[in-house]
This record gives sequence, C-alpha cells and structure tokens, in this order.
Amino acid sequence: MTTTPTTAPALAGTFAVEDPATLEVVDHVRDHDLADARSAVDRAAAALRPWAGLAPRVRSEVLRRAHELMLRDRDRLAGLIAAENGKSLVDAAGEVTYAAEFFRWFAEEAVRPGGDYGESPAGGTRTVVRHVPVGVAALVTPWNFPAAMATRKLAPALAAGCTVVLKPAAETPLTALAVARLLTEAGVPDGVVNVVPTTDAAGVVGAWLADERVRKISFTGSTAVGRLLLRQAADRVVNASMELGGNAPFIVTEDADLDAAVAGAMVAKFRNGGQACTAANRFYVHSDVAFDFTARIVAEVEKLTTGPAADGCAIGPLISRAAVERVERAVADAVAEGARVAGRGVLPEAPGHFVAPTVLADVPAGAAIMREEIFGPVLPITTWSEEADMVDLVNDTEYGLAAYVYAGDLGRAMRLGEQVEAGMVGVNRGLVSDPAAPFGGFKQSGLGREGARDGLREFQETQYLSVDWP
Ligand code: NAD
Repeated sequence: MTTTPTTAPALAGTFAVEDPATLEVVDHVRDHDLADARSAVDRAAAALRPWAGLAPRVRSEVLRRAHELMLRDRDRLAGLIAAENGKSLVDAAGEVTYAAEFFRWFAEEAVRPGGDYGESPAGGTRTVVRHVPVGVAALVTPWNFPAAMATRKLAPALAAGCTVVLKPAAETPLTALAVARLLTEAGVPDGVVNVVPTTDAAGVVGAWLADERVRKISFTGSTAVGRLLLRQAADRVVNASMELGGNAPFIVTEDADLDAAVAGAMVAKFRNGGQACTAANRFYVHSDVAFDFTARIVAEVEKLTTGPAADGCAIGPLISRAAVERVERAVADAVAEGARVAGRGVLPEAPGHFVAPTVLADVPAGAAIMREEIFGPVLPITTWSEEADMVDLVNDTEYGLAAYVYAGDLGRAMRLGEQVEAGMVGVNRGLVSDPAAPFGGFKQSGLGREGARDGLREFQETQYLSVDWP
C-alpha cells in the first residue's frame, strides 16, 4: 500500500496536509522557520499590554462571540477536522461543539480573575492578592483533537489576558488556522493569536522556550515529548502545564449494569477510533460477568463500520502508517503472550491508514498491551476476582490520566473510583471530558489542569501587595 500523496508535491516553503483516509493532499500550508517563530513572538509581545489592559468584560465578549461563530461554522469545521484527522463526521461535529464550549466557559470565567484580601496576624499590614496574566504563552497541540486541544488552551489564555504563539501538530494545522480566523472575526486584535505551523517542531518550540519574552508553555501530547519540553523549560524556569499520555483502566464489577457498561465501553474505547488520551486502554472485568460482557462487546464491535468519514463510517483511519504498524504489532504481541482475538470488525477497501476494531479476550494482566498506550481501536480484556488485587494492578502504571468504573452499587463505584490513581474517573459513565471540570492527570500524565476555574489559573501569576495600614 502506498502512502504517497496522489496530488502534486508541496511547493517550496510549504508542507502538505494529507487525508489519512484517502491519502490525498487536502491542502498545502506554509512551513514556518525559526525567523517566523521569532516574529510570532515579536507580535505576541507587542500585543500583550493592550490585550491584558482591556476590561475583562471586553475579552469575555470576544470569547462569547468566538463560541457563537464556531457553532455557526460547525459543519464546515467538522469537515475540515474529518479531512485532516480522518475521524468520523459524528466525532468531528462532537469535537467542534466541545471545542466551542471552552470559549463559552472562559467567556464566563474571564470576568472572574479572582483575588483575595487578608490581614497580617500581627495586625496592621493588609495583604491584597491579585491574579495577573502570565505573559506571552507558547501553546503546543497534538493532532488527535485539532480543534478542542487548541481552544482548551486559547480560551483560558485569552480570558486571562495573555497573548499566544500556537504550534499545531504538522498533521492537522488547518483546523487551528481556521479557529484563528474565527477569533479575528470575533474581535481578537492582531498579534494576540499567532498560529505557527511547521515541520520543525523541535526547532520552533525550542526557540520559544529560549526566548525570554515567553513566560509559559502549555503542551498537550505524549509523555516523552512532555519530558523533553520540561527539561528545556527548566533552563529559564518557564511556567509549564503538561497534558500527557494516558493508560485508562475500565473496571466492571460483577453487579454492574452490563448494558450500561457495554454502551460506556464503546464510547470510552472507540470515540475518535481509540485515538484519545482518555481512551479506555485496558479492561478489568469481574470473572463472573466476563463471558457475557465480552460477547456483548464483540456483537457491538462487529457492527462498527470502518472507513472514510465521507462514507458515514463510525471508525476512521489512524493518523499514519507508523501508527497502524504500532497497533498491529501490539495486537500480535498480545496474542503471542496468550490473548485471544474474540472479535474483529471489517477493514474497508480504501487506501487509508485503517485498522479493524478488535476485541482481545484472556489477556494476561501483565501483557505489554495493558501497560502501553494503544491509541487505536483495540479493546483488551482481562478478568479479576479479588477487588484489592485488581486495584493494585490498575494502579501499577506511571500514567494516571483517566479511569472508568462500572458498578451496580454506587457506594462501591465511588469507593473504587477514589482508590484509582487518576485525575479523572468516569463513574458509570464512558466520557469524562467537560469544560467545567478540571481536566488533567496524576503521575506522568501531566502537570496542571485545563478547563474549570483551574484552567484560568494556569495562565495567571499571583501577586500580592503587602500594605501597611496604620
Ligand atoms: P506528540 O508528543 O508526538 O506531539 C504533540 C505535539 O508536540 C505536536 O504538536 C508535535 O509537533 C510536537 N512535538 C513533537 N516533538 C516535539 C519536540 N521535540 N519539541 C517540541 N514539540 C514537539 O504527541 P501526538 O502523537 O501528537 O499526540 C498523541 C499523544 O498526546 C498521546 O500520548 C496522547 O495521550 C497525548 N494527548 C494527551 C492529552 C491530554 O489532555 N492529556 C490530550 C490529547 C492527546
């Protein structure tokens, strides 16, 4: 199978964006170099004071308009996401709504920058606490949610009064560029948002981290790259927020509502074709219900249609040929370790980077596939009978982003949820993302939170004035 684009090669100084379902070139985008990276910071630095100096209500109104404009253009944006990322149109439209919601949420938070007032215990001195914009922020986003990962950073940054330079993933720069155009239409002044697509991620982001005018790095992507950026950020002690990889467990107890658990598992595993940091990665099903659960999941998986978004399919391609090879290798290794292929969907007759949705049963609890982020439509099931042992297995990982618990007794579900070392736990729910909730992970899944009130704080510095008050 060829991965060569079917249309003309990129023009000089540009790079091609390819549809992973058809392998056709969607568009060419300017390939920004180090000089462009620097001039983006020039623009962001020049725009900082005027933007930060606006009344919070003015910034809030701009964000509110951005929410409206994204919804106005929902179908167009969903088409763009589907074209450059490959996800189904249903997933793409859902992403646009979710992405737009960050503008609405932070339009509401923008007018609540926060602050505090206190008295010294010794008397006299008063402490006046305020929260000010951290400054020019560098935003770096992955390809798996090209709209939402951008707006989850843009909205709080703009609400706080920061200006930004944003580097989208080279696979999916078109959506970020489209969102930036909508922000201009919504009233964001020149220089406040600067999108810098590039094939030289390390060079551009490295230059930003070395630039003394950049005071913040907000990164979403793999733990490996997050570690690298944290090391670079250390040189200038740049304020860092990191949304990194996951390895979400999905726990089913013997008293769980199996209809609900199967429905939740389908969402937690197959939304975005499994290419989500919150995707359920490993299934721990009580041995009393494992046979039933597996049979029902296999029946659902065999109904999934895999193919191009344009054909109305539920599961799109993976992002690249390398991703297909990685997922196929993970399945082969699991089978070599004793797993059994319990069910598999049908591969389309299409040239793209497709993997058939696959259910693996009898997976040994220690198999590699239970430890590594799959990032594809593969659902591995292991069984358990002792709750305490299962919880130990669940927590035996360096990741701690999301987890899912299905149990009939709500008290038990809550107790299990509280024992899982993860920043987000879906309790009898297969979806945890919500702009009003603090999204983020424990352990090596990240630092800081996005969304909720916390998301605004990530783009603010705290200052206090210690005032003598005789
Ligand atoms: P990635 O780490 O390869 O890339 C993410 C971004 O970093 C891209 O923009 C990329 O161009 C850039 N990048 C890559 N190497 C770089 C370098 N050396 N210096 C500077 N920038 C660099 O991740 P990906 O493959 O695009 O995305 C998948 C990963 O993202 C998964 O691990 C997933 O779990 C994670 N993710 C996490 C969240 C979250 O909120 N925690 C959300 C979505 C995705």
